[in-house]
Amino acid sequence: MGRIALRVFRQITAVLLLGALPGFSHAAPRPFEPRAELLGEARIRVRIAEAIPMATLRGFDLRIGTHTQDAASEWEFRCQDDRIRALQVGGTRTLELASPVTIETPAGFLQFRGRPYREELRIHSVGSLCEVINVVRLEKYLKGLVNTEFSSRWNEEAIAAQVIAARTYAMYQMRQAMGSHFDVDATVRDQVYDGSIKEDSRASRSVEKTRGVVLTVGPAQAPVPLKAFYHSTCGGRTELPERVWGAPVAGFRRAVPCPYCAHSPVMSWTLELKGEVIRDSLLKGARAEEKAPTGWPGDWLTALKSGRLTGLRIGKMESGGRVAELLTSWSIPRKGGAPKTVELPVPAARFRDWIGPGRFRSTSFQLGPSGRTLAGGGGRSWQFRGRGNGHGVGMCQYGAKTMGERGHKAMAILKHYYPDAIPRKLW
Ligand SMILES: [Zn+2]
Repeated sequence: MGRIALRVFRQITAVLLLGALPGFSHAAPRPFEPRAELLGEARIRVRIAEAIPMATLRGFDLRIGTHTQDAASEWEFRCQDDRIRALQVGGTRTLELASPVTIETPAGFLQFRGRPYREELRIHSVGSLCEVINVVRLEKYLKGLVNTEFSSRWNEEAIAAQVIAARTYAMYQMRQAMGSHFDVDATVRDQVYDGSIKEDSRASRSVEKTRGVVLTVGPAQAPVPLKAFYHSTCGGRTELPERVWGAPVAGFRRAVPCPYCAHSPVMSWTLELKGEVIRDSLLKGARAEEKAPTGWPGDWLTALKSGRLTGLRIGKMESGGRVAELLTSWSIPRKGGAPKTVELPVPAARFRDWIGPGRFRSTSFQLGPSGRTLAGGGGRSWQFRGRGNGHGVGMCQYGAKTMGERGHKAMAILKHYYPDAIPRKLW
C-alpha cells in the first residue's frame, strides 16, 4: 500500500473504529475530527477511585474548574448530589462548584493518594460520595500500565504484545462507554493502573514502538477493536468467552493450546474449602443474581440456608479440559422424617466467581480427597487441585512471556492467542 493510500486507509479505519468516541474530545462532546493523527491524542477516562467521602488532590498552579491557584496547593473535595465543595487544605479558600469538576496543572502531574497522575483529574459527585477520574491520553495511560499489569523486565516482544492487547482492550471499552462518565476502572475489573508512578524507560519504549497498533475484528471495510481479554496463566489451553460468561464475544472463535505457561509461578494451586464456606458463598452469590441458575429446584434457598453440603462432584467437562459444571448435594433436615436431598448444579465459572476468583484461581481443576471430615466437629471440607490462574480467555500472559523469550515476535504471539483478530496501525 502506498503512503497516501495507507493514510487514507488509516483515516477511514479510524472513523469506523472510533465514531463519536467519548473521552476523545476534551470535555463536552464536540464534532468528531476524523484525522488519524488526532486519534493518537485520544484520551481515556480511567476511574481511579469510587464511593469515597472525600478526595484530596495536590499540585502546582492548579486550575480547578475556571478558578486558578498560584504555587503548590492541596484541596479537599466533598460531594453532595450535583454539587462539589472544594476546601483549600491549610488555607481559607472555599469553592462551590457544579459536578463534574476538572482539575489540571501546567506542571503535568497531579497527586492523588500519594501517586502522580498525568494531565487531568475529574471529580464526579455520585449521591453523597465522590468518584475520581483520570483523563489521560491513551498512549500515556499505557506507559503507566506496563508495570502494574505485567512487567517492563520481560522480553521486549512479549511486552509489545501485552501493550497492544492492553491498548486494544482500552479502545474497546472507550467505544462501549457511551453515556457513562468513565471508560475503564483502574482495578482488575478492567486493567490495573496506578497513574504514572511505575513508568520506566523500557515501558515507555514499548508503548512508543507499538504506537497506534490495535487488534481488530469484523469486515475490512468496517473493523472494530477486539475485546482483547487476557489473563495470567491459562494452564495449557485458552478458553472461549461463552464458556466463561455464557455469551460469545466477536473475534473469539477458537480456543488455542498453550504449551508455554508450564513454568508460570501460578501454574498450579490447591484450595481446601469447608462445607460452610461453600454454602455461604453460594448463598450470597445466588441471591445477588437476578434469577437462580438453570436446573435449581424451587427450594434451593432452603437447601442453602438450612441444608448441609453432603456431596460435591464434577458434572460436565468442557472439551478443552476445564470443568463446565459442579454438582452439589444438600441435605435438608426434616422434623420427624428422613432428611431431604437437593441437588444444585453450579456452572464452574460461576462457582469460581462466587468463591472468589483470587482464591479459586481457574476452572481447570480436579477434586482432591473429597468430603474429608475435619477434626473437632468442624464439618467436612473439599479439596480442589487446579491449573492456571484467571478466566483463560485470550492471551495467556505467562505464555506470551515464554514465547517472547523463545524468539517469537510480538505479532506472532498475538496471532497465536487471538487467531481471529487482525492487527492494524491506526496512528
Ligand atoms: Zn498458557
